[in-house]
Amino acid sequence: MDVKWASRIAGLPPYLFAEIDAKKNEMIKKGVEVIDLGVGDPDIPTPDFIIEALKVGAEDPENHRYPSYQGMRSFRVAVADWYKERFNVDLDPDTEVIALIGSKEGIAHAPLAFIDPGDVGLFADPGYPVYPTSISFAGGEPYGVPILKENDFLPDLNAIPEDIRKRAQLIFLNYPNNPTTAVAEEEFFKDVVDFASKNNILICHDAAYTEIAFDGYSPLSFLQADGAKDVGIEFHSLSKTFNMTGWRIAFAVGNKKAIAGIGKIKTNIDSGAFQAVQYAGIVALQNYKSGLQDRIQIFQERRDIFCKGLDEAGLKYHFPKATFYVWFEVPEGLTSKEFSSKLLSESGIVVTPGNGFGEYGEGYARVSTTFSTERIIQAVERLKETKF
Ligand SMILES: *Cc1c(COP(=O)(O)O)cnc(C)c1O
Repeated sequence: MDVKWASRIAGLPPYLFAEIDAKKNEMIKKGVEVIDLGVGDPDIPTPDFIIEALKVGAEDPENHRYPSYQGMRSFRVAVADWYKERFNVDLDPDTEVIALIGSKEGIAHAPLAFIDPGDVGLFADPGYPVYPTSISFAGGEPYGVPILKENDFLPDLNAIPEDIRKRAQLIFLNYPNNPTTAVAEEEFFKDVVDFASKNNILICHDAAYTEIAFDGYSPLSFLQADGAKDVGIEFHSLSKTFNMTGWRIAFAVGNKKAIAGIGKIKTNIDSGAFQAVQYAGIVALQNYKSGLQDRIQIFQERRDIFCKGLDEAGLKYHFPKATFYVWFEVPEGLTSKEFSSKLLSESGIVVTPGNGFGEYGEGYARVSTTFSTERIIQAVERLKETKF
């Protein structure tokens, strides 16, 4: 029988890395030593004290049973305490915090709670590809709001057409931003709260990178803006802060009714995160400063090496204050895709073409510095020798 795919998956654009992967494998077959700076997935292991907490939790039979869908109360308390200490934001662990099986899970499910067929879901373009996909999975119409270099990669919310604003139920924003590495300050978040309350649009702020910041810079939480909890939620994750991408533990915080809405979806879809992982998450959050500066220092050093290489290669970039990416402009006369293909076939370097993050990513490419410093140095040497 020929299995019919639902239009929601049949109509999806091809997976961002599929084409690059095919080409990369072809190169490897030819014997080329490929340096892949594509995916943002930390190479440094999870800190030992977190692994130890997992081991203890894994041995307790209490943790072998179904967890609660909203997360253990002690995990939600640890999240609330961390938000208080880190951002001076008050959260009620019983109503304003929910555990997630990775923030991707929460982001992908959120539109099911807030979008009806025919509603518009706004998202920053370029951005994490899950935003538009999850909006359309919910039957909504994704509408990309450009984030452009001339506006420091912040969206011009007032430029969103009136008819779109009227139909929009939510907007996905993300600062510090993947892929552009841009950051947002208090003024911007205040404008976002205004925009949300005037237009009745739920803010879904993805804050995965607030802890990966350089030169002493400390990114803000959206919830620090006055009135933010009335209009929005924030997604956060242990993945990037603690090098725990494989563990699948994260959380959403903020507006009570919105958190309850996500909870309603989750009770019908999953059964929560493994409790031993939640215990490890508690220990991580309670000791979040432990080793963090050392981890940041490694990413900062790699950022500096890569940016210096771009300077020498004559390529323009947005100097990253945060995240472990570098977002740079491709040489004039080439599209993002042409540039990344050329770089792979002539120099064996994999970068992500900017248009993979949305139409406004055209003209850019992204590298991730989540690979050994030695590899980054090698990549820079090859990049400088490439003729465009
Ligand atoms: C990595 C990433 C996430 C998701 O991380 P999880 O591992 O699913 O918690 C979410 N948003 C952005 C922008 C990311 O880069």
